[in-house]
Amino acid sequence: MSTSIRVRFAPSPTGFMHLGSVRIALLNYIFARQKQGTFILRIEDTDASRNLDQAKARIVQDLAWLGLTYDEGPGKGGPYGPYSQSERNDIYQKHLQELGASCKIYRCFCTAEQLETKRQKQQAMGKPPRYDRTCLGLSDDKIKSKLAAAMPFVWRFKLNQDQIIQIQDLARGTITFELKHFSDFAITRADGTCTFMFVNFIDDWLMNISHVIRGEDHLTNTALQAALYDAFAVKQPLFWHLQIICNAAGEKLSKRDFGFSLEDLKDAGYLPEAINNYMTTVGASFAQEVQSLPELVKSYNFSNIHTTGAIRYDVDKLTWFNHKWVDRISPSELFVHAKPFLHEAYPQSASLSDQTASDLLQRVKSDIKTFKDIKPALHFYFETPDVELAALAKAFGDDHCGIITHIFKENSNGLDNGDVFLQAIKDAGKAKEINTKIMFSSLRYLLTGRFEGVGMHELLSILGTAECKKRLERALK
Ligand code: GLU
Repeated sequence: MSTSIRVRFAPSPTGFMHLGSVRIALLNYIFARQKQGTFILRIEDTDASRNLDQAKARIVQDLAWLGLTYDEGPGKGGPYGPYSQSERNDIYQKHLQELGASCKIYRCFCTAEQLETKRQKQQAMGKPPRYDRTCLGLSDDKIKSKLAAAMPFVWRFKLNQDQIIQIQDLARGTITFELKHFSDFAITRADGTCTFMFVNFIDDWLMNISHVIRGEDHLTNTALQAALYDAFAVKQPLFWHLQIICNAAGEKLSKRDFGFSLEDLKDAGYLPEAINNYMTTVGASFAQEVQSLPELVKSYNFSNIHTTGAIRYDVDKLTWFNHKWVDRISPSELFVHAKPFLHEAYPQSASLSDQTASDLLQRVKSDIKTFKDIKPALHFYFETPDVELAALAKAFGDDHCGIITHIFKENSNGLDNGDVFLQAIKDAGKAKEINTKIMFSSLRYLLTGRFEGVGMHELLSILGTAECKKRLERALK
């Protein structure tokens, strides 16, 4: 494993995996695997207000479900651990002190209300909201008295506002930031813990991250973190800011959009292979669309990344991929994923052997776009349909309906042999100038309650001729 390429997926444990995060994890994974690098999972859990243990476990489970195995991270260890930020506080405090010693930070005692008032004033004057450095000029005595009065404060990083800073982005090339457009930013909170801006930078640096691949919503953070790399005189990693995923209307994907979280998609019966495939290829062009993760690792072209155009999340396209993958994965893998949906749709299916249930799925898989389709696709198998001859008459006319049902009655005894029976009704239909398609869809309707569906020979073999005979006779009564 090359030590030079090191990338990380650094989610905050929010309790669910956003689809945008899935894409970021995927592209980091593919980048690492293609370049024989190291893929790291780092949990950014400095917000103590959340139930972190469960949310952390969820991230690990979700990555495992997607097949995105990491080389270093929680539960796995590695030479740069610990990999959860909540366990790295000593490291952050040590570096905070270094910054303090070199006078690159200052205490800010402004309260949230004071900051808000300043912000509103600036806005009213048409100025960009920026911290006005009130606390930069505090005398030592003032600071001492505020500390003695136990006034809460945060440490702010003092930007060099004359500085012009550059970063390198894989898609955008060199990006230049003028620091005069930014505020001195907080690197601690009032409780003394360090902010995202600081700890995320410290970890990327100390974990030797070579490429920071994250959403473009972090571009401003990158500018400020570039100043931190500078302050500690360490080399910046390369960056790749990925486009944000939008819904079909071009708005940022939100909780209101179906498929906002990975959980939505799992619950709706999508395969991890399809999600990986779609999320990797969306917004890029691939000669071959349907590809497995190992194939994507080989084919992804990182030297041809485009930045323009928002990425539109299209559930129909994802469903198209899923349909392809239902067909592509092995019967045993399909069964593992489909089993819970089958049992939920038809609890009686739990009494079938795995082999029988798996065979059943194989035979109807062309009707399964997502596992929610198992219910309609297998309705004919688990439930005897209620059918009415009137529906046949409605579909094909009274005259045809009369002839068709007459043919079925005449031949139903021959149903002991499916092939012979189908040939017989085909011939009898032809003799009356009724084509086979009409004969078969009428029969399918009487056996399953649906005019469309599984092929006739297949249907007779799945249901068994005895069951078919029973159903047909009941329907014709
Ligand atoms: N915890 C941050 C997030 O979830 C990480 C950003 C990054 O990848 O640097 O957005």
